[in-house]
Amino acid sequence: MSFTKSPELEMILRTMREFVYTEIVPLERPFLNHDYDTLMPLIAEKRQKAKDLGLWLPQIPADEGGMGLSLVEHGYVSELLGQTLLGHIIFNCQAPDAGNMEILIEYGTLAQKQQFLQPLLAGEIRSCFSMTEPENPGSNPTWMSTTAVLDGGDYVINGHKWFTTAADGAAFAIVMAVTDTAASKHKQASMIIVPTATPGFQIVEKTSVMGERGYGWASHCEIHYDNCRVPRQNLLGSEGMGFVIAQQRLGPGRIHHCMRWIGICERAFDLMCRYAVLREVAPGRTLGSQQTIQNWIVESRAEINSARLMVLDAAHKIDGAGSYAARDEISIIKFYVAGVLQKVLDRAIQTHGAMGMTDELPLAYWYRHERAARIYDGPDEVHKRSVARRILQRYA
Ligand SMILES: Cc1cc2nc3c(=O)[nH]c(=O)nc-3n(C[C@H](O)[C@H](O)[C@H](O)COP(=O)(O)OP(=O)(O)OC[C@H]3O[C@@H](n4cnc5c(N)ncnc54)[C@H](O)[C@@H]3O)c2cc1C
Repeated sequence: MSFTKSPELEMILRTMREFVYTEIVPLERPFLNHDYDTLMPLIAEKRQKAKDLGLWLPQIPADEGGMGLSLVEHGYVSELLGQTLLGHIIFNCQAPDAGNMEILIEYGTLAQKQQFLQPLLAGEIRSCFSMTEPENPGSNPTWMSTTAVLDGGDYVINGHKWFTTAADGAAFAIVMAVTDTAASKHKQASMIIVPTATPGFQIVEKTSVMGERGYGWASHCEIHYDNCRVPRQNLLGSEGMGFVIAQQRLGPGRIHHCMRWIGICERAFDLMCRYAVLREVAPGRTLGSQQTIQNWIVESRAEINSARLMVLDAAHKIDGAGSYAARDEISIIKFYVAGVLQKVLDRAIQTHGAMGMTDELPLAYWYRHERAARIYDGPDEVHKRSVARRILQRYA
């Protein structure tokens, strides 16, 4: 198998790299200082520039207005954009919108596409995905309490969700709710589109995560759905497809996340190496001359390289045979790359000493917030258990 990049992809990556490092990285400072008044107009300006350069929506098919990249190609793009805190939002391929776009393209009716997908693709609105509940284990998506009951031509939704990322400022949520308690457990829930202006949609708060409540797309909300009434036409796909759509959403999404994490690792690695050759521990003796630092550098290099090959291999398999055929590979990269990310960030911070703890660099932000990589989209333990069981079944 070859992961050689085409000349077209090389050109795209060159243009993007230039854009990322000259125009987006400088925006990290207002982001890390929570200076959103300065930041938001700059983000709007850079988004327009990304559109003008033809680099908008890299993950979306060309006939839907995107760049039409394959999953492997988007993997390379996602790695590059992951090298800055703001890469994905500027090219409109950030979670959870990217996943919502994918399922709207796949399952949306014409009317749903016009009302919700088109403005999302244009970057005029944002969205969120509301599945996890505080009272039930998110790691078991067949067990939830939120219900959607048909009443005339409407669904009436009641429930309590949290960790609905990016709900702050979103125009709509795709909500997973039980529509048939009598069905088999994988067919009980459905996905329903709920505009956030619907009466009964109530954000309780932005949950404080690792000391921060965050802002807009970079925050996580607790939400009450209190007799939230939406037309039956807002059902995505058919009734009982919630679980299937959620699984489908997660396949490519995990590739996007893993490649973004590899991008973070590359930036952390670069910062670590630059600091190692500059910082002197005694006159004329650099950090980089210390064997411990050398070990961290080379161990990180080996782990990042192997992680990338594993992710590209999984993406290649999804491109060729679909998410189901690649389910082992997807689970393996999900926990493996999350672990590499944590180790590389930890070493980069340690190399920088106190500087690593500051918000002068993106390392501390990533260290706090990317700890969640081992929890969302399936905790490590669940992925390990699933793959191990399938391996052992072959021996039983
Ligand atoms: C930053 C962040 C963003 C998120 N964004 C979203 C979002 O946009 N939308 C949304 O709906 N949800 C979101 N989530 C929620 C996320 O999907 C859930 O946290 C995740 O599914 C785990 O569910 P839980 O937190 O309820 O943990 P639980 O299911 O209660 O599990 C707790 C722990 O138990 C262990 N465990 C669970 N099952 C097993 C098992 N079978 N074997 C062994 N150990 C096990 C794991 O260590 C796990 O971490 C987000 C979470 C975070 C942290």
